[in-house]
Amino acid sequence: MITIHNVSKTYIQNNKTFKALDHISLSINRGDIYGIIGRSGAGKSTLLRLINLLEVPTSGSVIVNGQDLTKLKGKQLRIARQSIGMIFQQFNLVLNKTILDNVLIALELAKYPKSERYNRAMEVLNFVGLKEYVYKYPSQLSGGQKQRVGIARALANKPKILLCDEPTSALDPNTTAEILKVLQSINKNLGVTIVIVSHEMDVIKSICNRVTILDNGKVYETVEIEPKGIREHSH
Ligand code: ADP
Ligand code: ADP
Repeated sequence: MITIHNVSKTYIQNNKTFKALDHISLSINRGDIYGIIGRSGAGKSTLLRLINLLEVPTSGSVIVNGQDLTKLKGKQLRIARQSIGMIFQQFNLVLNKTILDNVLIALELAKYPKSERYNRAMEVLNFVGLKEYVYKYPSQLSGGQKQRVGIARALANKPKILLCDEPTSALDPNTTAEILKVLQSINKNLGVTIVIVSHEMDVIKSICNRVTILDNGKVYETVEIEPKGIREHSH
C-alpha cells in the first residue's frame, strides 16, 4: 500500500546540509499497524511526513496506492492526499472553534459534499465517543478527548491510511491505553492502515505488527512482531 524506495532527505540550514534520512526503503501493507521507532532526532517525523508529502524527499520515491506522490502536483496531489489522515502529539486543533467546527473545517478543506458535512462530522465524533462534546471548545476537553477530536478530524474524509506522529506522547498511561484502543478499533473495524511514529517502545509493541527501527536517518532493522496487547493501568 505504501512503498518508500531509496528515500533521502537533506535539510539545508545556515548554508550547512544535514542528512535527516539516508537511503530509506520500507513497505507498509494494507491492514498493517506499522511502527517507526527511534530516539529523538533519528528522522521519524520526517519519514512520516514524507508519506503525505508534507516533506518532499531530496531523492527516491514515495508510492502510495500505486502512485508515486513525488511525481504529482496541484490537484492530483491534493486528491491523493485525501486518502491519508494525520494526527499529532499536540493535537493541532483550532482553539477558537468548537469541536464540531474543527471537524467541519477539515471536511470543507477536503471538499466533502457540503450537504453531507454536518452528518458526517456528527457520525465520526460519535464514533470516537464525543457526541456530548461537539459544541465545546478544545480548552474544555482533557488531553485524551482532544486527541479523539484529532482522530475524528483525521477520519472525517474516510482515509485509507492514518499517520500518527507521537500520538500518545502528551498523554498519561491510562489515556495512552485508551487512545491505543481507539487506534486498534479504527484498524480492525474501519480497515484503515495505520503508521505510528513513537519513541515509546511500550506503545509500539502493544499494537504494531511490524516495526522499523530508525537510527541516525538510517533503517537499523525492520521486524515483524506479535502485538503484545494494550496494558491496562490502574488509577
Ligand atoms: P525525530 O522525529 O526522530 O525526532 P525528525 O525527523 O524530527 O526526528 O528530525 C530529524 C533530524 O532532522 C533532526 O536532527 C532535526 O533537527 C532535523 N530537522 C528536522 N526538520 C528540519 C528542518 N525543517 N530544517 C532543518 N533540520 C530539520
Ligand atoms: P455554512 O455555509 O453552513 O457556514 P461552511 O461549509 O461554509 O457552511 O462552513 C462550515 C463550518 O466551518 C462553519 O461553522 C464555519 O464557521 C467553519 N468554517 C468554514 N470555513 C472556515 C475557515 N476557513 N476557517 C475556520 N472555520 C471555517
